[in-house]
Amino acid sequence: MAPVSELNPPARLLLGPGPSPVHPRVLRAMSTPLLGHLDPDFLGIMNDVQAQLREAFGTKNPFTIAISGTGSAGMEAALVNLLEPGDTAIVCVAGVFGSRMADIVGRCGAKLVKLETPWGQVTDLARIEEALKTSGPVKVVAVVHAETSTGAQQPMEGLGKLCHKHGALLVVDTVTSLGGVPVEVDAWEADGVYSGTQKCLSCPPGLAPLTFSPRALDVIKARKTKCLSWYLDCSMIADYWADGKRAYHHTAPITMVYAIREALRIVLEEGLPARFARHRRHSAALMAGLATLGCAPQAQEGHRLPSLNCIQVPAGVEEAPIRKKILLENGIEIGGGLGPLAGKVWRIGLMGYGSSQENVLAVLAALEQQLQKAGRPVKLGAAGAAALTSYAAAG
Ligand SMILES: *Cc1c(COP(=O)(O)O)cnc(C)c1O
Repeated sequence: MAPVSELNPPARLLLGPGPSPVHPRVLRAMSTPLLGHLDPDFLGIMNDVQAQLREAFGTKNPFTIAISGTGSAGMEAALVNLLEPGDTAIVCVAGVFGSRMADIVGRCGAKLVKLETPWGQVTDLARIEEALKTSGPVKVVAVVHAETSTGAQQPMEGLGKLCHKHGALLVVDTVTSLGGVPVEVDAWEADGVYSGTQKCLSCPPGLAPLTFSPRALDVIKARKTKCLSWYLDCSMIADYWADGKRAYHHTAPITMVYAIREALRIVLEEGLPARFARHRRHSAALMAGLATLGCAPQAQEGHRLPSLNCIQVPAGVEEAPIRKKILLENGIEIGGGLGPLAGKVWRIGLMGYGSSQENVLAVLAALEQQLQKAGRPVKLGAAGAAALTSYAAAG
């Protein structure tokens, strides 16, 4: 074969549904020397990550770790550890990620009760209560807090309490919310909550933060059958993360653990409330700019995610060629729609390090430029002006 050229990826501004731009401090942490995965110094680093994750998740759960693998590994770990064949799980499906949870429930041999909601809407607590009352004993209720395929944010108030009243555990996907919008595992009374590194934590993909409540751990301990996955079996992984035990299960991805430690240091240095306010401020400015381009939000009013802005493509515009030009000519990645929203929406992520004024202004200018080139009647500069007005009003 011909020699492969030196790796030199083009610079891209990652404003899609993930991965998000990685903080330079995280990249630096990743170039530091490896330790062995049982080295006492590395075990200290793992302890740091556990403490940082508890703070970010808003939990005191002792079982708070980072699963090796991307967000989907966190999803699978949460479900395969809690479910056994014959159990019943209610899954709220209002987008791609809810559908994936439903798929995993089926693979576990559990009975699936699917609560479907139109994409962009959130699931009513009353519907979940109704399903809990009519579905026989329910082991797990699963919801996506931040549905990245639609830009909707599921309200969590009262849901954990409701599940527990009916003897069920609550599993929550916070892949696109952790570090971007408030996640309160203990206040929600959630039992299994997972996330990913490459969304609002601004770290490369590769780890899935996961926390289980003591109640969930009791259920895992009382399993009658072995966990369907060897790799994700948390009863074994727990022995690696447990202080004092540190039993080998699989080799931790050392460099990724360095990365998440630095990413979480940045999150906690900024402070969670300040970070959430920043995500809201930049999302509001972006949406103000997009409104001038005739792009209406896809998600239900009052439930829009600041970390993932999903907007409808103006009528008569072919979305894919514009998105491709924004990538190749403007150097900015934005996302298209998935499933029933394919061809109909754009998804603009303002996650973690990527949530900034310069990025908002850059993506608005790129959209204006490409829409105008495509023959749309665009007043150049109007979207940026609307964004700047939004910033001025926010003070
Ligand atoms: C991105 C995402 C996932 C999957 O994460 P991967 O890192 O792609 O495996 C799961 N749930 C939600 C809500 C996501 O946005």
